[in-house]
Amino acid sequence: MPRYDFRCRACGSTFEVSRPMSASDDPASCPDGHADTVKLLSTVSMTGGAAAPRASGGGGGGCCGGGCCS
Ligand SMILES: [Zn+2]
Repeated sequence: MPRYDFRCRACGSTFEVSRPMSASDDPASCPDGHADTVKLLSTVSMTGGAAAPRASGGGGGGCCGGGCCS
């Protein structure tokens, strides 16, 4: 089952959710119970490499969370 990375916009933490691909677009609540989360595009981390995702299709300003705005 693939794992998806989410980031909570309420507390800024990131977390993983394992779910079937058919439910990949479902909303997820962060471990602290916040519902305002965004799904990150760097999903299915098989290699653990440092591949920086360039596509920002969400437009939610999530780039700053990765330190690429410095
Ligand atoms: Zn949270």
